[in-house]
Amino acid sequence: MKKNFWAGLMAASLLVSAIAAGAMALIMSNTPKSAMIDMDGRGRAALILDPGHGGADGGAVSVTGTYESKLNLDIALKAQALAGFYGIVPVMTRTSEEIDYPGDAGTIHAKKVADTKAREALINDAGDAVLISIHQNKYTTSGPKGSQVFFAPTEGSTQVAETIQALLAQISEDNDRGIVKIGKNVYLMNHITCPGVLIECGFLSNPAEARSLESAEYQLKLAAVIVGGYIQSVS
Ligand SMILES: [Zn+2]
Repeated sequence: MKKNFWAGLMAASLLVSAIAAGAMALIMSNTPKSAMIDMDGRGRAALILDPGHGGADGGAVSVTGTYESKLNLDIALKAQALAGFYGIVPVMTRTSEEIDYPGDAGTIHAKKVADTKAREALINDAGDAVLISIHQNKYTTSGPKGSQVFFAPTEGSTQVAETIQALLAQISEDNDRGIVKIGKNVYLMNHITCPGVLIECGFLSNPAEARSLESAEYQLKLAAVIVGGYIQSVS
């Protein structure tokens, strides 16, 4: 059952890959930012996709100079499009590299705080939901590689992390790194009320992995993992 499901997702992933960028943009523009998922009437928890960073906060920078915020968004938008094939309309914490900050947020720190608070409110207002936050890792040396899944302290997060970790291990043997409880210093993941995971998809400091993470093909595989992990977690 799960094997068929995975094959189906990968087929859908290839289909997305074959669709012109214009069609993907159409799917995305028709997706209301805060739409509650229950498109298929099953009443399952909403999927919240959180592309980390954005706006004044580019996050980590890859060895080729690409900002983490862009890669996080690329993967999240592919997951959003792929979810659409399953009748799932994710709640997106952002759909652009631009972020509208309140007028009184003058410094980068104030902007980051305002953005984090806005995401916290959006996530916790969604009610019954599963949060998947998308990030990229970076280390001081080029050796470390592979993804890592961090889980929030909320009930149900560990199971979501295990499900996603198992799927990540299917797309690259480097991804077989287990799951870890999120650190107390990550504000958002410690202030959500729903199950949530933060995926560090790979290391931007590893040249080969950075190339993968910047490729549409690997981004689609990650998108399939995200959507598949969500569906398996709420089914
Ligand atoms: Zn990050």
